[in-house]
Amino acid sequence: MRLDVKENPALLKLDLYCKGLRIDESCLIKEEGRPILRTRAGLGSGLEMILPDNVWTNTPVTEAFTKESPYVLKLDDRHRYQLYLNDGHVCEVRIPKEPEFYKKRTSSGKKMARVGVLQGTYLGVYPTAACYYWKMKPKRQNCDFCSVGLNLGVEEEEAKAVNDVVETALAARDECGITYVHFNTGFYENDTYLDQLEPYVREIRNRTGLLIGVQTPPHPDFRRYDRLRAMGVNTVSFCFEFFNKEVFDRRCPGKSHHVGLTRYLDAVEYCARLFDTANGEIIAGPEPVEDTLRAIDWITSVGAIPTVCVFRPLKGTDAENDPPPKTEEMIPIFRRYYERCMERGLPIGIAHNVEVSIVLKPEECHYFSDHHGKYLWNKTKIWFLRYVLRAVLAVRKWKADHDFYARPLRSRIPLFGKPPKALAASESVS
Ligand code: SF4
Repeated sequence: MRLDVKENPALLKLDLYCKGLRIDESCLIKEEGRPILRTRAGLGSGLEMILPDNVWTNTPVTEAFTKESPYVLKLDDRHRYQLYLNDGHVCEVRIPKEPEFYKKRTSSGKKMARVGVLQGTYLGVYPTAACYYWKMKPKRQNCDFCSVGLNLGVEEEEAKAVNDVVETALAARDECGITYVHFNTGFYENDTYLDQLEPYVREIRNRTGLLIGVQTPPHPDFRRYDRLRAMGVNTVSFCFEFFNKEVFDRRCPGKSHHVGLTRYLDAVEYCARLFDTANGEIIAGPEPVEDTLRAIDWITSVGAIPTVCVFRPLKGTDAENDPPPKTEEMIPIFRRYYERCMERGLPIGIAHNVEVSIVLKPEECHYFSDHHGKYLWNKTKIWFLRYVLRAVLAVRKWKADHDFYARPLRSRIPLFGKPPKALAASESVS
């Protein structure tokens, strides 16, 4: 592996997560880049940038530790953004423009930027009310790294009508070519998170044809995942954050008390057999590296794909004064991440135009491995699946644009079918 950030964009992305970035006054990011919008999950609190080799990242810029960062972003005379490390030039970076749809409003008058946010090149939506752990009395039981309770009503609408979400997704699809919508909820009393999410899933599937991912706490009745699969959800994700039980119990008191680590792990295993992909999401940094490596081994052993976040001590959270992890300690984690996915033949990097800025994608981590020739068979399989999925998505889009799913079964058959009509706003669910 190349240890020079000038030659290794994945290492640069990782180093920027761990050290953050200072922005020189010469930059005009406020005027022309994507605004810094903290999404509820929190990791999108930074500056969206595109590094060499089209590696998207969201670099911390507002947290306290970034003030000491050796990285500085400057604008040169030709109006190009240049990244420096300790005054030495690293590379030119691009700042993605703010999408036009951020300024648009839905038919109910909501600003689309407050309904869904691009995280890289997919749309992230947190459609329902804030996580219950933030509202608990007498003492809230939120995870200590979480910023959900800080963002609601400030950066985002608290609850979003289904039609607002669909219109925002359509605008993002038509302007930016997104292929994937990711829904995220926190915990609700009586485990109602899937009940609340299903109407959004149905309408997004029927009216946009986009790939759908769902991230919620694990429901106690796993048959709900069979139903979710039948609705057209492609991927589910469970954030158990830490494999070390002591760290999990201490840093995620709500999850520990109301759900427990075991149910998270059981749900990952169950869903890995059911969906196109299932993810187990963990945070690298706060628990010993050995535990994170064990988590990667376990997740991949059941056929799921890890999502490995780099801990970010977000401003205003209970963990804001914790130090960010050290890059050197993170490298073996991301090497293991890539190698285990390839050894197990997992389908990573199949969906096109899904660039992810808030975490390192598994396929990006090939930069940390020295065993490239070893995975030729899986690379060929991935290449083939990528084209199959493109074709599937094109058909789904055609069906959605022609109201295929909204029409009765008989009229979907061309022989009997009437010409498609646009779904009137009044017919839509809200
Ligand atoms: S479960 Fe934890 S991380 Fe997720 S929204 Fe609730 S408090 Fe935040």
